[in-house]
Amino acid sequence: MSVKQNYKTIKQDIVDTCRRVGRDPDEVTTIAVTKYVTIDRANEAINAGITELGENRSDEFLNKYQAIGQAANWHFIGTLQSRKVKDVIDNVTMVHSLDRHSLAKEINKRTNRTIPCFVQVNTSGEDSKHGLEPEEVKLFIEQLSSYSNIKVVGLMTMAPLVEDESMIRKSFRSLKELRDDIQQLNLSFAPCQHLSMGMSHDFQIAIEEGATHIRIGSKLVGQD
Ligand SMILES: *Cc1c(COP(=O)(O)O)cnc(C)c1O
Repeated sequence: MSVKQNYKTIKQDIVDTCRRVGRDPDEVTTIAVTKYVTIDRANEAINAGITELGENRSDEFLNKYQAIGQAANWHFIGTLQSRKVKDVIDNVTMVHSLDRHSLAKEINKRTNRTIPCFVQVNTSGEDSKHGLEPEEVKLFIEQLSSYSNIKVVGLMTMAPLVEDESMIRKSFRSLKELRDDIQQLNLSFAPCQHLSMGMSHDFQIAIEEGATHIRIGSKLVGQD
């Protein structure tokens, strides 16, 4: 399938899902995750009208950025090694995977602009998932106050890889509750208005639970 066709289908899914729960589809930003695909395929996404691209590794991000540059906004969605921060930070629009202090410190040091960041949370309880434990998030964010180049714009999670829809929903719902708690703190450096959640197989559930940024790879730019 062409990216254009996939995008059309997904956009309609987003509209239908939003209508079901009384949300405005304009509140949902779609990020095309290009980590599995070629530069040509990423360009096909841009030509289909997609403006946001996501990559999860610094080497692949740099590879694509060299070819595509500012024709897209770039979302860094995977584990970011501290020593790679200086290579990527000035060309990323948002970091979705802030998960430790050492990373915040390095980002703060290596840039002169404000970097919008999502704090990644492990809402599934699975050991294999990255991110902070939910109960650690509040203190973690409070301790970012001295990093003037970091703005916490939201929370990010990956749902468990299970068939059971109720478990997926529970994971997204807990992220939203946590987001609401953080907003109550009224921190100027952490408005925390967004929720980055939902992938190819669960983005409708994520939208029902309040996602503002969905990260879609295989269903949008994959060959399947
Ligand atoms: C790969 C990846 C995605 C997209 O996954 P699909 O299932 O292909 O849609 C989303 N978020 C993160 C963090 C990823 O690593």
